[in-house]
Amino acid sequence: MMTKHNSIEARLERFPRAHLMTAETPVERMERMSELLDIDLWIKRDDLTGLGLGGNKTRQLEFYMGEAVANGADTVLITGAVQSNFVRSAAAAAARLGLKSVLQLEERVPDMGRQYYSSGNVLLSKILGAEHISYPLGEDEVGADNALHNRADELRADGHTPYVIHLGIDHPPLGALGYVLGAAELNRQIGNFDVAIVPSGSGATHAGFLTGLRLAGQTAAVYGICVRRDRDQQTARMQTVLNKLAAMMDFDPALTANDILTWDGTLAPGYGIVGPTTREALTLMARTEGVFLDPVYSGKTFAGLLGLLKEDRIQRGQKVVLLHTGGQPALFGYQDELE
Ligand SMILES: *Cc1c(COP(=O)(O)O)cnc(C)c1O
Repeated sequence: MMTKHNSIEARLERFPRAHLMTAETPVERMERMSELLDIDLWIKRDDLTGLGLGGNKTRQLEFYMGEAVANGADTVLITGAVQSNFVRSAAAAAARLGLKSVLQLEERVPDMGRQYYSSGNVLLSKILGAEHISYPLGEDEVGADNALHNRADELRADGHTPYVIHLGIDHPPLGALGYVLGAAELNRQIGNFDVAIVPSGSGATHAGFLTGLRLAGQTAAVYGICVRRDRDQQTARMQTVLNKLAAMMDFDPALTANDILTWDGTLAPGYGIVGPTTREALTLMARTEGVFLDPVYSGKTFAGLLGLLKEDRIQRGQKVVLLHTGGQPALFGYQDELE
């Protein structure tokens, strides 16, 4: 008889996949933090996905790079924030597979210090040999995509075979497939739990994770902590991403509005800007457990967990899983903001 896990993997078999994950990531119980918060807290360590300093993009890139290789690409192109982990991970994946990479960096975060433009992920992707181009605007998905396509056209005219990693809402969320598998992996590792806390940015991680958990028969509440858009915008976005994912997988997990939980209490002051709640959450985790979170995503996500506890949406004694999506290289880009 096929196990549920096998049937999830079988469902994804028709998507080409580049194997970038070196192993399953650990799920660890946080003993001291559990005691401090009076919950049963576990962390799924997807900061330890391995390739090029890890993070959630490794799982997502298995499917993008799989398609790139299947298409015979020699160059991958991607656009993101200046301290984007996605572009750094894409450059690492490209290096692993022997492809070139073009990274377009968008000015999404205003008034940042010098390190933001030179250290952290920027430094790492230079070491990886990626070509950098910059895009002057931050909230212009269409314009940024067009600019990237112009570079792809130039490469094509020069005889190259480019592959654009599309992250815009109009494209199938291929990367979410990585989190369908990630959720199945977590389910195998720890069985039932009450609440999962995940970051919700593009929504690929959140959508894949929620879909994968439901496919595995898990009924846990999954809160997506908003890191870029407010609750209303993010909930609408999630509906779109979840529908696109269901269409892509040819499977409808029959999610209801009650399944799509978003929370934006720690979004302020805005995307990529470190406010006091994020700074406190990040230092609390480091000083209690020796685990580093990042200033843009996982720090805000843990701050979200603390906020949900305060609002009694998470109850004392509940078994809670925090998805650690990595991003620590950005700590060095935020030196001025964190010191
Ligand atoms: C990109 C990123 C996220 C957000 O993931 P989405 O799939 O875009 O929602 C969260 N955490 C880290 C560290 C990231 O780099």
